[in-house]
This record gives sequence, C-alpha cells and structure tokens, in this order.
Amino acid sequence: MQSRYQVEIEELSELLSGEPAFRSRQVFEGLHQGLKIPSEMTNLPKALRGRIDELIPPALTERVKLVGDKGATTKWAFALHDGAVIETVLMEYRNRVTVCVSSQAGCAMNCSFCATGQAGFSRHLTTGEIVEQVMVAARELAPRRLSNVVFMGMGEPLANYSNLIPALRRLAGPIGISARHLTVSTVGMVPSILKLADEKLPVSLAVSLHAANDLLRNELVPINKRYPLEVLREACAEYFDKTHRRISFEWALIDSVNDRDQDIVELADYAFDLHAHVNLIPLNPTPGYLVKGSRTERVRDFAKGLEDRGVTVTVRNTRGREIDAACGQLAGSQAVMIRSER
Ligand code: SAH
Repeated sequence: MQSRYQVEIEELSELLSGEPAFRSRQVFEGLHQGLKIPSEMTNLPKALRGRIDELIPPALTERVKLVGDKGATTKWAFALHDGAVIETVLMEYRNRVTVCVSSQAGCAMNCSFCATGQAGFSRHLTTGEIVEQVMVAARELAPRRLSNVVFMGMGEPLANYSNLIPALRRLAGPIGISARHLTVSTVGMVPSILKLADEKLPVSLAVSLHAANDLLRNELVPINKRYPLEVLREACAEYFDKTHRRISFEWALIDSVNDRDQDIVELADYAFDLHAHVNLIPLNPTPGYLVKGSRTERVRDFAKGLEDRGVTVTVRNTRGREIDAACGQLAGSQAVMIRSER
C-alpha cells in the first residue's frame, strides 16, 4: 500500500510523470522538511494539491487524542487502513521534545508486565506508518521542533527490522533528526542488534533488561530463553565497539521482584563492564500483572546502590499516567474501546 511517508522520491516522480521534473522534489521536501500536507503546499497549482492528496493518502486516521500533564503530554490512538489501532505519545520537556512511536500493532514478545504484550500481536507497521506518527507529532508541536524519537510505543522494533531501517534513514535524512536522538528500544533480539551495528546508522540503543539473572529474566522477558544474558552481553559489547554509542538498560522497578539488593549487585556487574547507562522507571500498573511498582524510597536507594558501584543512572519520571500513556500501558483502553465501537 502506498502512503504519504512510504513513497520514495523516484516513485513520486513516476506518479507525477506528466508534471515538470522538479515537482517530485518540491512535494517530497514539502512533506518532510516543510511539515506540510498537500493542501498546504501553496507552491503547487491548486488542482495538483488535490491530486497528490489522493495519490499518496495518509496512512493514519486519528481516532482519539488526549492531553495530560497540563498540556505537556499528548497521546493519539490512530486507526490503520485495516482497522488495527496503534498509539503514539508526544512528551514536551523544558530542553527537549520526544515522541514515542509504535513499531507494530500489538507485540508478540509477551513480557509479563506490559499491557501491549498482554493484548497480543496483530501485525508489523510499514515504514510509512512509522514515519507518519513522527510527522503528526511534529506538526502538532510546530513551531517548536521535535528533538527525539524513541521506539518505545507498541511493538518490538527489531522484530520489524526491514521496515524499521528505512524509517530510521528517513528520520535521520530528509526529516533531519540526528541519528543519536533516535532511540531503538529492544527486548534483546540478538541477531538484529548485530545487524544494526553494521548499518552505519549510529542510533541509540536501549535494551529492556529488567533482570540480570537468567532465571528471573526468563520470567519477565521470555525472549531471554532464546537469547540469554551472556549472549546478549556479547551483542551489546559489539554494538558499543562498532558504533561508539553508549547502550542504556531499561529497568522497570517491580516491588520485591527485581528491586532487591541482589538485583543491584547483578545489574551493576552487568552494566559496568559494558559502560552502559541505566534507566530506572517504577513499574506502571497494567491489568494483567498484579505486582506493584517499587516505592519512591526504594527507587532512590536502588539508584544510589548502582551509583555507588560506578554505574550512571537516570530515574525516569512517569508521564501520561492519567491518559493511559505511560510506559507499558499502551494498547489498553483506547484500542479496546475502539474495537468494541466498530
Ligand atoms: N519492545 C521494545 C519497545 C517497547 S516497550 C522493548 O521492550 O524495549 C518500551 C519500554 O517500556 C520497555 O523498556 C518495556 O520493558 C517498558 N515497559 C513495558 N511495560 C511496562 C510497565 N508496565 N511499566 C514500566 N515500563 C514498562
């Protein structure tokens, strides 16, 4: 299926074959640099704007848009052409603006504590569907500029590798977001991490670790049975060696499950050797997992324990809780609500 941000410039030239040769570039730049939709491209004849709108239709239809955190967080639920629903979250901070995009409708990774995993897998997103989420957010934000894109919405981006890479290239190329400000977050798909290291695309890599011993990680992040911690460690080391990008480990702190003193020691050992940074986030509650996030004091002590062992740590503040937009909560209420409406 052709869509607005899927089409390559050569394909655009073919679609506009009766037009002057410079039109395809004008349209491509208008879309990507100008953040314009065809009807706003006033440098084109009016009739042509309408034609382009039909030739390269948008891939996403806005179904729900919710605003939280006093205007600083916006969440969209978009319907795709086949009725699947995905979610995108825009987060404004003082010194940066981040959009969190989905890479799949649903997810097949089955992490026990994640709402998307609990709801199952529908399909991969196309490159155009991935990029369009960023463009909708960038248009919403203008004239402020979007600075970061994180692939931490629904889905496992490295399981959708063939659509992810062209999306990253388009974001880092014509759209102009620096590769280091693009963060691919993964459960630890080892073969794809190794491939990504060779792409000459120095994006940031976040690995959802959540446990640094195999027994516990098998339970929380089941892909660990296929790519256990030792194998994952080697892949992370290779990624760091080849890209010189420091890896970050995501760790959702779960009360009495992975916030014990023993977890501090195991995580510090694992992260220190890899020069990795640790992102802590208290677990957000989801309907299918009845364990709580760690208490604030425990989050603080856990962070301090890591720092004492020489590991750099950030405690992520939760955004969008009241609009079900927090980490791991996507695909919950909106998607279900929309499905039952149809
Ligand atoms: N599949 C990818 C990207 C999507 S999830 C990955 O797993 O990395 C983005 C992040 O949110 C991951 O670190 C994931 O483990 C985390 N997450 C999932 N459910 C969560 C929850 N309930 N609370 C906090 N973080 C959660």
